Amino acid sequence: MIQTILTLNAGSSSLKFALFAEDDDVPLASGLVDRIGNEGTIRLRDALGADIATAPGDLASHPAALQLVLASLDAAFPQADIRAIGHRVVHGGPDFATPALIDDAVVATIEALAPFAPLHQPHNIAGIRAAQAAFPGTPQVACFDTAFHRNHPWVNDTFALPRAYYDKGVRRYGFHGLSYDYISGELARTSPQIHAGRVVVAHLGNGASMCAMENGRSVASTMGFSALDGLPMGTRSGQLDPGVVLFLMEQENLGPAEISDLLYRKSGLLGLSGLSNDMRVLEAAETTEAAEAIDYFVFRVQRELGAMAAAMGGIDALVFCGGIGENARNIRARICERMGWMGIAIDPAANEGNSRVISSADAKTTVLIIPTNEELVIARAARSLAASAERTVAA
Ligand code: ADP
Repeated sequence: MIQTILTLNAGSSSLKFALFAEDDDVPLASGLVDRIGNEGTIRLRDALGADIATAPGDLASHPAALQLVLASLDAAFPQADIRAIGHRVVHGGPDFATPALIDDAVVATIEALAPFAPLHQPHNIAGIRAAQAAFPGTPQVACFDTAFHRNHPWVNDTFALPRAYYDKGVRRYGFHGLSYDYISGELARTSPQIHAGRVVVAHLGNGASMCAMENGRSVASTMGFSALDGLPMGTRSGQLDPGVVLFLMEQENLGPAEISDLLYRKSGLLGLSGLSNDMRVLEAAETTEAAEAIDYFVFRVQRELGAMAAAMGGIDALVFCGGIGENARNIRARICERMGWMGIAIDPAANEGNSRVISSADAKTTVLIIPTNEELVIARAARSLAASAERTVAA
């Protein structure tokens, strides 16, 4: 038998998963169930990226999808014994600053936080429930996207509202914490001098945010109370004057569900371009609207880069990650183009080749590309908390 760790990342209509051998950082397999419901698809790949056949079954609901994932993994890796399961949970509220071993009290707290992330948290809870039913007695660990940001200075943790709202939990939480945690660990491992300095990490994917890190710890983030704030994203607006929401309510007569749909699903690159949320599609398109959507994205990244550096009194390094950050050469080059005032200068050949270091040799600020790996952060936490739970039981 191989002892393994399963990671699960349950979204509204998707389930991302990976299976790690206990002593290996490269997953044995990883995959995605997409469009859970009527037209669900499942994709499972091995460590080298080759497709693995999946078991037949339906993908009508999250529990059904998990069953199919488990059956497929079981068929592909009959010798795998799942020792612990790690879950991505979007919201850990004010208190969870580290991953947590899941028990009834932890589930109750995660459920109580659902109003803070109504579009995501219920799906994370469904994933936990489905895994608990499939593996009763197996340790399960919750890894929170907010946890990495929990030690922000107060000025980066609050809004200028009456204090009662802060006490009710209306705070700047920040998200993408698992990605930033991974990048921080990679910097500590490979570039300790940079890790010890002032680093802005730009996680630019379908969701996008930036994090200011001093000595490997988050001190500010572009995302705030929700994952809507900060940068424009595939379908999310990013930072918005709250007066716009009042206008939508009072003059356009939109209700909460319609405003939520507008800001989460119809805005960002999709809303501006009227074409797509996908950066590759926009880069290939030849319409003015697609070009303007990219212009807006680049401008807002530059603006927030200045804000993140200001939060630290300067910048020593910039790290790109996420689908756009890791792959979109032209977008990286354009972002960096007007940031010479903060010591940023790109080596065009290094940028073109997606090299690890893409800044020019004499640039004051180092610019890096580090592919992020949220699954590995979850697997490591599950591994470590499961081991400590076993030690407690044994003691
Ligand atoms: P998610 O937040 O869903 O995990 P990803 O991190 O996978 O998203 O990022 C998806 C985004 O990355 C999409 O906008 C996609 O177009 C973009 N992307 C991926 N590869 C490239 C590329 N080669 N050039 C430009 N954009 C890319």
